[in-house]
Amino acid sequence: TISAIAYTAATLLFTVPFFDTSTLYRIYSTLILVGIFSFCFSYLINKLLYKLNATTIYDPLTKALNRHTFNKSIDTALIEHRRHQVTGVLFLFDLDHFKRINDEHGHLTGDEILKEVSRITQNRIRETDRFFRYGGEEFAILMRHTSLQNAAYVAEQLRAIIENHTFKKGLSVTISGGLSEVHQSIDVNGWIERSDHALYEAKSSGRNCIKIYIPPLENWSTEEPALLKSAE
Ligand code: GH3
Ligand code: MG
Ligand code: MG
Repeated sequence: TISAIAYTAATLLFTVPFFDTSTLYRIYSTLILVGIFSFCFSYLINKLLYKLNATTIYDPLTKALNRHTFNKSIDTALIEHRRHQVTGVLFLFDLDHFKRINDEHGHLTGDEILKEVSRITQNRIRETDRFFRYGGEEFAILMRHTSLQNAAYVAEQLRAIIENHTFKKGLSVTISGGLSEVHQSIDVNGWIERSDHALYEAKSSGRNCIKIYIPPLENWSTEEPALLKSAE
């Protein structure tokens, strides 16, 4: 667009003396119209691209990053751990007895609570942490360059904030969560399974709590170095 305008302007500059005033007038108004049109066109294209980007990266309801982005991010986190020993913790959390809230207060209220939990979480985490909607009422936070202790602190704070928050209609909600640290010996599925295992433990020990996955002691001869490294 810019080059087209520059070209036309340059052409005009050299040809102006050969035109009478009314022709010049027409040329100028055409130029102005072309300018306005191309501005609107590029604005619309940008807006569409932005929307397209948003729908492929984010979950439309909660505005958290979507599952597709989660898969890509966790892959990258594991690769960076293997190549550059970047530490990382995966925190999975799930709303407690959420089916009950839907059943008693309706799906729309349920949706509002999911949005609110997402907003609270986004306000609490660091800019470098990535927050995802992992599934229905299950969320994930990928914390990099963070020790397991720091991540557990963030997770526990978030659990307490949500427990003490009053949601729409005066409702209360709690979360259960599980944390695990990235390790050379596991793949992406193994990492997710570890956090999921800890989350399951949190659910089975009464909910509204956070559990940390600790590798079985017999693995410590191979797992210890990474665990020590992460305790920055
Ligand atoms: P638990 O404490 O064991 O996690 O119990 P729960 O009731 O939360 O778990 P369950 O998996 O039985 O139910 C999950 C519920 O979450 C059921 C489903 O309708 C609800 N849910 C999932 N996605 C959405 C959503 O986008 N909006 C709403 N309103 N509800 C959702
Ligand atoms: Mg649940
Ligand atoms: Mg669930």
